[in-house]
Amino acid sequence: MASNIAPTIPREQSQISCSPSNGPRLRRADWNIILAALWGPTLYVSAHSDDAAIEMGFSLLAGILPEPLFLVTVFSRSTHTVIQHSLAARQVEAVRLREDRRFCRQVGARFIAMRLRDWLPRHRIDAWRRLAVGQIVRRLDALVNRHGIRFLVVPFPSGSAHHHHEVVRDAALELAARRTGLSVLLTNDLPYSVNDPTRPLFAAGQRYEPVVVEFGPDGLSAKLATILAYESQCRPHYLTSVAIPCGPCRYSETLWVPQNIGRAFRKRVKQLACCPGSHVP
Ligand SMILES: [Zn+2]
Repeated sequence: MASNIAPTIPREQSQISCSPSNGPRLRRADWNIILAALWGPTLYVSAHSDDAAIEMGFSLLAGILPEPLFLVTVFSRSTHTVIQHSLAARQVEAVRLREDRRFCRQVGARFIAMRLRDWLPRHRIDAWRRLAVGQIVRRLDALVNRHGIRFLVVPFPSGSAHHHHEVVRDAALELAARRTGLSVLLTNDLPYSVNDPTRPLFAAGQRYEPVVVEFGPDGLSAKLATILAYESQCRPHYLTSVAIPCGPCRYSETLWVPQNIGRAFRKRVKQLACCPGSHVP
């Protein structure tokens, strides 16, 4: 399968420029100043290695998220052994860290491991959740300070109850509520759950708008190639539920954006997703 799925997006860097043809009559220079003030470093907060590729692989390749882009895997300390390949927990951890770095090279992100223990509580454990959220908030706060982060990206679980994904989302929203100038962007929690992209979403009392990123078969192939960076973890069902069909040979990923910056993001998507070859370092 790997040999059939080659990245189709050329690896070129480009500058983002806006020509507000339908918007207010601003000179291009003025518009660029506004965008420069709005955008800023983005930290993709991935509960596990492989989540970002499954949730937003195409959008990351297309450069939809403001740059520079950092990716942190929260539960990167493995406690699992893989029987089939006879790997001990520490070997599993090493393999997954390598895969995270490979994925980050593909999408032009800088990788950070948070090294919390990867274990899955079978039931909702309130004490553990409080502890985990507190730990993650503190570590994210330090990363936000160090890298001047303006956007955190986390999954919005809807219908599934993946504890790790929920605590990561709760931590990001809690931190953003404490800090000014930090926004949270939400993704669909693929492959576990899918939000209805036609309806607004509410999180932490804020209205979120869907920014739908559409792509065709080439884009889907490119997304699958990012998922295959995680070759030790790929499962066939991942590869069939990683993009939402939205028409004949059309697929989509959805980024949920706070209402006050929704328009700017839609403009950015329109520019970048319609010509995905314009990005990817
Ligand atoms: Zn996950």
